[in-house]
Parts: sequence; C-alpha cells; structure tokens
Amino acid sequence: MRSLSWRVKLTALFTLVLLASLLLQLFCVLPFIRNQQVMGETHQREVARNIGWELDRHLTRFANELTIIAKGEEFRNMDVVNQTQTMVEVVEISTSLSSLFVMDAEGWFVSGTVDNFPVYTTKSYADKPYFIVPFEQGEVSFAQTQFYSQPEIVATTVSVPIKSDTGERVGVLVGNMLLNELIEYVANYPLREEQVAFLVDIGGRVVAHSEIDLFALEEGPLSLDYSDLPMVQAVMAGGVAGGTQKYVTTDVSYFAAYAILESNGWGVVVEVPMSVILGKSNVLTGQLIFINIALFTVTLGITLVLTKQITAAQKRAEEALWESEKRYRDLIEKEKDIIYSLDNKGEITFASPAVEIILGYRPEEVIGKNFMALIPKEWQEETGADFNNLLKTGEITAETVLLDKKEQPHFMEYSSTVIKEDNKVVGTRGIVRDITERKRMEEEMRVKDNAIASSINAVAIADLEGNVTYVNQAFLRMWGYDDEKEVLGKSAVAFWQVAEEAVEVMQVAMDRGGWVGELAARRKDGSIFDVQLSASVVRDEAGEPICRFGSFVDITERKRMERELRERNEQLDVQNEELQSQTEELMTQQQELIEKTEEVERANRLKSEFLANMSHGLRTPLNVIIGFSELMKDEVPGKINKEQRQCLSDVLASSQHLLNLINEVLDLSKVESGKTRFHLTNLALTEVTESLARTMLPILAPRQQSLDVEIEEGLPLVHADKAKLSEVLLNLLSNATKFTPDGGKLKVEAVREDNWCRVSVIDNGIGIKKEDQEQIFEPFYQLDNPLTKEKSGTGLGLALVKQIIEKHGGQIWVESEYGGGSRFTFTLPLATTD
Ligand code: ADP
Repeated sequence: MRSLSWRVKLTALFTLVLLASLLLQLFCVLPFIRNQQVMGETHQREVARNIGWELDRHLTRFANELTIIAKGEEFRNMDVVNQTQTMVEVVEISTSLSSLFVMDAEGWFVSGTVDNFPVYTTKSYADKPYFIVPFEQGEVSFAQTQFYSQPEIVATTVSVPIKSDTGERVGVLVGNMLLNELIEYVANYPLREEQVAFLVDIGGRVVAHSEIDLFALEEGPLSLDYSDLPMVQAVMAGGVAGGTQKYVTTDVSYFAAYAILESNGWGVVVEVPMSVILGKSNVLTGQLIFINIALFTVTLGITLVLTKQITAAQKRAEEALWESEKRYRDLIEKEKDIIYSLDNKGEITFASPAVEIILGYRPEEVIGKNFMALIPKEWQEETGADFNNLLKTGEITAETVLLDKKEQPHFMEYSSTVIKEDNKVVGTRGIVRDITERKRMEEEMRVKDNAIASSINAVAIADLEGNVTYVNQAFLRMWGYDDEKEVLGKSAVAFWQVAEEAVEVMQVAMDRGGWVGELAARRKDGSIFDVQLSASVVRDEAGEPICRFGSFVDITERKRMERELRERNEQLDVQNEELQSQTEELMTQQQELIEKTEEVERANRLKSEFLANMSHGLRTPLNVIIGFSELMKDEVPGKINKEQRQCLSDVLASSQHLLNLINEVLDLSKVESGKTRFHLTNLALTEVTESLARTMLPILAPRQQSLDVEIEEGLPLVHADKAKLSEVLLNLLSNATKFTPDGGKLKVEAVREDNWCRVSVIDNGIGIKKEDQEQIFEPFYQLDNPLTKEKSGTGLGLALVKQIIEKHGGQIWVESEYGGGSRFTFTLPLATTD
C-alpha cells in the first residue's frame, strides 16, 4: 500500500512538472513565437511603405517641377518659340527629363524638344489620357511606362495643365520622366536576406526589381509580367493603400506586403519566403520540442530512479514485516482459535486476528467492548456466573455461545486463567475455540444414530472379523431376540440358514464393496425366513475398511404374495386358454349359422318359386273346372236334377275357394320371391282411401257397419305402390268387417310420425288373444270366427299384407284385446322431396 502511494506521489509530481512546463509554453513561449511572426510581417509592410513613400516623393517632385515650368510666361502665353527654347534648356540640364512637349487647347502638339518633333504635329492627340486628365480635370497625369532603346531608358509620361494669366487652361505640358533613378533606388534598397522588392505599374508590368537587372533582360525592361500574382492583381485593381498577402509558388510559401504609390497608383511589393519569417520561430519551436523532450526524459528518469529507490527500501521493510506477519499469521491460523484478554470487568483488552475469521469482527472492533455484548441473552446468566467463578478460582474451561457480526451464534469452548498484578486479579486471558461444527456433527451423529436405531429396517454392524458389534431394535424383532446382549459378539454367520452362503456374501461384499440380494435367515427359535440383504463395507477417509454394515428387510410376506400371484397367473392362463377354445368354437358355430341361414334363404326362395310356378299351373285346370261346372249348372249341356245341381254348387264353391287360395298363394310367393314389381310413386293417401270406401260400401251396408276415414290435415304424400297399398287396406278392412258383428264401427286413421306415415285400420270387433297376435301374420294361420262359425278366407291375407308393407320398408303390427276390437297399424315412408 505504501509503495503504491509513493508511486502515486511521484507520478503526480512528474505530471505537475510537465503541466507547469506546458502552461509556461502555452502562455509565454507560444505568444512569443506568434509575436516574432507578427514582427516579421510588420517589417515586411514597413519596407514596402518606405520604398513606396520614397518613389512617391520622387514622382511628386517631378510633377511639381513640370508644374513650375508650365507657369513660365512663354507657356502661359503659348509663345511657341520661347517655350521651345526653355524646354531645350531644361532638358539639357535635367537628369530626370528626357524630353518635353506642349499641346494646345485642341490637343495638337505645338512644340517639343525631340528632333523628329514634326512627326507629332500631323494630328490632334486630344483623345489621349495625358491630354484629357490635365486639360479637362486640371490634374497631373502619369501615363503608360515606356522603354526606349536609343538610349536605353525607361520613362513615364507626365503631363500638367498650362494655365493663362486668367487661370484658364490653354494647353498641356508633357514631360517624359526617366525612371532609371527610381529603378536603381529599388535595386539598391538594403533588403534582408531572401527579401525581394519590386515595383509594378498599374498594368502589372515590373518597372523595378531588387534582384533582377531589367536592362539585362533580352526583351528589355517592362517585359516581366507579374500580373498573375495575387498582390500584383490587388495593385492593378487599385483603390487601396496597401496590404499583405500569403501565397505559394512552386512549393515555396511567401509572405508579401505591398504599398500603392499615391501619385500614380503603382505598387511596391516586398516579399519573403514564409520560412524566413518563421525562421526564428522555427528555431524556437525546435528548441521548445527539445526542451520538452529533455524535460520529460529528466523528470521521468528522476521519477523512475526515485521510485526504484523508494520501492526497494519499502519492499525490504515490507518483506520484513510480511515475514513476521506471516510467521504470526501461520501461528494463529494453525490454531484458528481466538487468543484474548479481558480486564476484571470483562472488557476486552486484546483479541487475536482469529476473531475476524470466526466472528467477522476486526480485533480493533471488539477491543474496548465488554465480552457480554457478544453473548446472546439466553447464555448471559450462565456465562456471567462462569466468569465470576473464574475470578474466584483462577481458571476455568467452559462452553458458551458468541454472536458474530451477522448475529449468527457460534458454539465456543474456552479456557481461561486470571492475570494477577501485585497479587491482585487485574483481568483474565485465555483461548476460545469455535466448536459449532463439532456440535453440528455431534447433533448429526445423534440424529443418524436415532434414525438407524428407530429404522423399521433391521440394521447390524460387524467388525472386520465378522463379529456383531451393533444391532437395532428392528433386527432384534426380526430375528426374535429380546436383548441385544444375546446378539453382540456373535459371528454374523450364525444368523443365516446356510453358513457357507453367509460367508460367501461377506467375502463378496468385502471384495466388491457391497452385495445386494436375498438370503434365508435363521431366527433365534430356529425357524427360517426370507430376507432382502444389503451388505456393505464402511471405510475411513483413506479408504481402509473399518467395519461391515448390513441392512435387512423381511420379505417372507412379499415372497408369499409373489407365490400366490404366480399361482393366480397360472390359473388365469388356463382359463384364458379355455376361453380361447370356446371362442373358436363359437366362431365355428357362427360360421355354420351363416351358412345355414344362407341355405334356408335359398330354400325359401326355391319354395316361393316352386309355389308360384305350381299355382300358375293349377289355375288353368281349375278355371276349366269352374267354367264347365257353371255351364253344367246353367244346364247348357242338358237338364240336371236337384241333387246334381247341389253337387255342382259344392264343386263350384270348392273350386272357387281353391282358386282364391291358389291366387293368394301365387301373390304371396311372388312377393316373397321378389318377382312382384312395385311401382312406387308419390301419392296422397286419400287417393286410395276414397275408392276403397266406395268398394267397401256394398259389403258394409247389408251388415249396418260404418266406416270412418280420418286423415291428419296436411299429411304429406306417401311413397308407395298404389295398387299394392289398396290391396293392403282392402285386406285389413275385409278382416275388420269379417271379425266385427253387424252394426260395428270401422275406422281408417292416418297420421304423420317423423318421416313416416302411420296408417291404422280399427274395428270394435271380437279382438285377438295375446298369444295369437304374433302368429296371425304367419301364412295359413287362421282362427275360428265365432261370428260365422265357418272357416272362410285362406289364412294368407295378413302374410301377404306383411310382405307388401315390408317391401315398402315399413312395419306392421296389431294391438288388440280379446273381445275389445283390434287395431292393425302399418307404416309407410313419406314421399321424398326430390
Ligand atoms: P283369413 O283369410 O282367415 O282372414 P288372414 O291372414 O287374413 O286370413 O287372417 C288370419 C287370422 O287372423 C284370421 O283367421 C283371424 O282369426 C285373425 N284376424 C284377422 N283380422 C282380424 C280382425 N280384424 N279381428 C279379429 N281377428 C282377426
């Protein structure tokens, strides 16, 4: 910790020094550098202004000289002869004039000092600026710069107005001013290294240059054109007194200052590479970087050296401390117990660091506290008494509970002795050990012991020799012993039916670590019972066997149940087999039944076919018999007597009956064999009942019997064969009238029931006994009719009716009470909508 703080301090110092240096640079050195630059630039501007000012002065002086000349009398009066002479004289003595001319008010040259003057007199130059500016505006005019090769001069034309005595402008004095002096001035101006100055006219041409001898140029002076440089363009644009400009040409960055000449608008440009201006600053910056690096390195070096030295010293001290602490800690950690001392009031005066491990308090947190503050209420009384006892007796070993920082209780065991000074008890000291874990394990062991002892499983422990050392109550119960004394010390082998088996089990359990299985056990009284045994070997932490452990469950009952279950299963298997064979038998019978049914059906069909054929065959001869009998009765072949007539009547009646019978048999068998065609249509029941009522009338009337037809309103159409339906109803009504006394009441009723029409034929006649009700639908089943005393009918009517109804898909049944009338009801399907 300390070495770290030293490092932090040094680093902070290091940072501070660097920061101070940076601030110094920021607020002092950088402004200084900036200032250097500004000074460089200012100097540049000053040079430009100086040159400009000097050149201006020169030009102005020249213009003034011209103005003075123009004030001469010969000019004022435009005295050509005299002015020419004056001009020649002036040109001769002047160093800066190359020639002079005079122009009149119309712009014509009237006099001049040059030899070829007449050349200029052929036209008016009134449109030239050197005439217009002075003549019309009264101002000095500086015209275009010229280069003359004979002699080599550079000149500029200057013109001033000539005024008469009355002040009126009468002409213009034009002078060509030599600029050689000016050029030299620029060339010789004391410039600094790499500094360049030049003069440009308003056309951007270079008039003078500090470094270039313009006269040495092949094309002559004025051939240098700098008009593309930004400051030259500023000069050409005019209007400003001067300025500065930074620009770059072929990789060199320049700083330029320029000044505009007041007299003629020309510009003086002074330029220097930026590097020259920055020169000093650059050196300074370089120095600065060097200083910075040096500063950094030195500070870092010092810091490192100091850190190293300090750290080394500190490390040595720490190591020594660490060693001693380690020894101390080792000692304490080995013990893990708290060493403490108290004063005689119980206030803690010392606690070893173990207090933090056990109770979570650092020693300084408990020192000064009364130890009672760490003891829970329920232990305070006992521990307080122990403390008093200690003060009296001088030493004690006891248990108590201490609360840790999280208020969790710890079981503690402590040994304490008193501290005496001058034979007076001044306090106590001792050692406290955390026995919470021991207590917990003791408790756990107790629970385990109880669990084993009270387990319903029998449990036994034997030593490695196989002698029993422990058994629980369940074991004693299971083996029929009263006291464990009878068992302990005995060989474990003695409790089993077959000693060899027991020995083997013990061996296997030892070899493989365990054995689970069933074994026959022997009780105290010698009886044998089945046991499920789990044998194992208990080992210590090193894996060495300590003892043998066995747990036993009496499985006699389970075995018995298993046996029973097995027997029951076997029985069930037998029953199952029986059931299976019965099922097979049943299936065979069913198959036979199916075959028989098919046979019966075939026979029935054959029977019906036979009957149909036979009836047909019988009818023909019978009709012959009936026909001839009638002929004979009607005495067509010849007269017959009374007895013969009677015989013939009997023959006729019997034949008629037979024909009826045959017809009905034929009808029935035709329907049964499926030969009868049914013409199913949708028809209203009334269609049938109305004609039926008419048909029945002659039969009912002589017997004073009434017939009521009651058809439910809105009864839908039925789906039926009309003729067959008539036959059914006729048959039922014939029976009804036949088995009803005279004056009886007959009724046909039809109602709807779901998708069916239910039709009933009702009479209040003699009725039918319960036992006959089923049979009457069988063919040839007839009962005596007490009303007629004779058997009329064939016994086939109802059978035919049943067949017809069933062929329609319907059903027929009778409800009747003997002596109380009958109700025959059948159902017919309602017409399908489509
Ligand atoms: P039958 O030609 O004898 O009328 P059916 O098959 O029509 O033959 O009738 C069989 C028998 O059912 C009849 O002999 C009669 O005893 C009984 N039977 C039929 N209809 C009625 C009825 N409405 N009342 C009482 N008995 C009837």
